[in-house]
Amino acid sequence: MNWRGHVLFALLLTFVSALACQTLHLSTLWEYLWAIPIIVFGALFPDIDIETSKAQRIVNFLVIVVALAYSFTTPAAFLNGGWRFALEILGAYFIVVYIFKPSHRGITHTLFSAFVFSAFVYLVFNLSYACYGLIAYISHLIADSHLRFLPKIRRK
Ligand SMILES: [Zn+2]
Repeated sequence: MNWRGHVLFALLLTFVSALACQTLHLSTLWEYLWAIPIIVFGALFPDIDIETSKAQRIVNFLVIVVALAYSFTTPAAFLNGGWRFALEILGAYFIVVYIFKPSHRGITHTLFSAFVFSAFVYLVFNLSYACYGLIAYISHLIADSHLRFLPKIRRK
């Protein structure tokens, strides 16, 4: 599945599950719309292990935007350590992607990573964004038919 397919499938699955759990009302529709960048992020994040993939470029861009947006909520927040938070996120992300270079369909294509991802979203945002993130991430694994908890250990 290409990146468009992953994004569409994630949007569909998060929307349907929000309806099914009756968490989506007119009042929370706005929250769903705000969660779309996180849903797109979660749907594409597993493919950062494909070098120069469109998914990797979109995620690189979103990481920078989210890190800056979060630390720039107010000028005071930025001065009170927001800049450090942005640098930490960017540093951690680019070290993982460009120095550790996860193998394709390895650690990023696991339920373990899906939970780590949504825990991170929970810490930065809130529980409902974390749920959307988790469903979006798992939708990627379902679409790849690659549902496992931890990566297989490869013997060379
Ligand atoms: Zn994938």
